[in-house]
Amino acid sequence: MKILVLGSGIVGVTAAHFLARDGHEVHVIDRQALAANETSFSNAGMIAPGHAYPWSSPRAPKILWRSLFRGDTSLKLKPSLDPYMWMWCLKFLAQCTAEKAAANARNKVRLCAYSQESLQFLLDETPIDYHRVTGGAVYLYRDPALYEAGVKATKILTDNGVVLQPKTVDEAARIEPALESVKSQLAGVIYSPRDESGDCHLFANKLAQHCTEKRGVTFHWSTAIERIEASGDRVERVVTSKGAMTADAYVLATGSYAPIHARSIGISLPIYPVKGYAVTVPVDGRNRAPRLSGVDEQNLVAWSRLGDRLRLTATAEISGYGTDHKPGDFAHMLKTAQGLFPDGADFARPSYWAGLRPMTPEGTPILGPARYRNLWLNTGQGHMGWTMSFGSARIVADMIAGRKPAIDLTGLTYANA
Ligand SMILES: Cc1cc2nc3c(=O)[nH]c(=O)nc-3n(C[C@H](O)[C@H](O)[C@H](O)COP(=O)(O)OP(=O)(O)OC[C@H]3O[C@@H](n4cnc5c(N)ncnc54)[C@H](O)[C@@H]3O)c2cc1C
Repeated sequence: MKILVLGSGIVGVTAAHFLARDGHEVHVIDRQALAANETSFSNAGMIAPGHAYPWSSPRAPKILWRSLFRGDTSLKLKPSLDPYMWMWCLKFLAQCTAEKAAANARNKVRLCAYSQESLQFLLDETPIDYHRVTGGAVYLYRDPALYEAGVKATKILTDNGVVLQPKTVDEAARIEPALESVKSQLAGVIYSPRDESGDCHLFANKLAQHCTEKRGVTFHWSTAIERIEASGDRVERVVTSKGAMTADAYVLATGSYAPIHARSIGISLPIYPVKGYAVTVPVDGRNRAPRLSGVDEQNLVAWSRLGDRLRLTATAEISGYGTDHKPGDFAHMLKTAQGLFPDGADFARPSYWAGLRPMTPEGTPILGPARYRNLWLNTGQGHMGWTMSFGSARIVADMIAGRKPAIDLTGLTYANA
């Protein structure tokens, strides 16, 4: 078939790869001039089934409410008049029960694990150098009570097969020597031996190049999707800034913009952007930089080592589609990282960025067919889209080929679409 993939973030590029591998003629459209130039540009780089906790937890409503009055919460709501924000928030709140959180964690872990396996499958066939770091991730706790609660909370993931190991600070410093000088600040560490990290932007661009050169995929760069047109039970064409494009099948992978594109053909997708901030600093050969990725669970700052750079990310802000930022937005992240790894990077040379996670209320993506016979959804990977992209791509390619996907899809398809 001729298949048009809409969007070349990490989700669109991995989809193009697995579709081309099946022998389809694949075209990819993106308004950017290269792959992964929006949300997939500067994420925390973590491939982390060990951190697949659902955001819609019983604690989340209180955190959102507090965020209206103070600025230091992990999840922030900045109310606007956008009705889609409110509809999404209501759906998110409906997921915040213990039962729903457990079900969402189960679905998420299943996809994360399959996706990590699919990444290895892809790399075995197509070696790509993208500053991959295997060997685990470390989740740091500064307060003994929070550490104890953190260890207890691992049950929701360990019950679903994730390996998470509580470690003393001495043990943790043997696993990640960069923690040696801050042992006195820590109460305990949860080590996730199977987690890994890498540069999502670099990976997506190298895979796009491979797809072009070896699998005949055509990328239509700097081509903006204006609308999708459908009639009867088929999508007829995609109207772009460079004219109409047609195909036998279409895969919608435009991240946070997917609900806007889907709306043009009468499909309502429960996806809303959740803004996050990232700052990248050069390591410049310093030997006290961390090797493993991790999260400071008290300050909610994630980091990963991307070759000779250190990436820091934080914040989940429900504030609409803006990606504006100012240096003050990154002060907390830089202070936290400087405290943890004082001689780990040149913190005086930051590159700032903000992006929009395409979040569903459940935290799991929407995969599969939707209303029209030739339309497939692959979107809504939210705060773990780098981790979940490989499995999502493979599942959608399996569905298009009429093969049974390798994992149970409960909670991953969207019946109302
Ligand atoms: C701060 C932060 C930290 C994160 N950390 C992690 C992490 O450590 N691990 C992890 O697994 N995930 C992480 N994520 C999540 C992950 O980055 C996202 O889930 C993922 O990048 C989403 O990929 P995507 O391809 O769906 O979206 P995008 O990368 O946004 O791709 C969508 C594409 O669609 C294109 N597009 C949109 N509209 C149009 C249009 N009208 N015309 C043409 N093209 C269009 C865009 O140009 C873009 O290229 C993080 C996210 C943030 C913001």
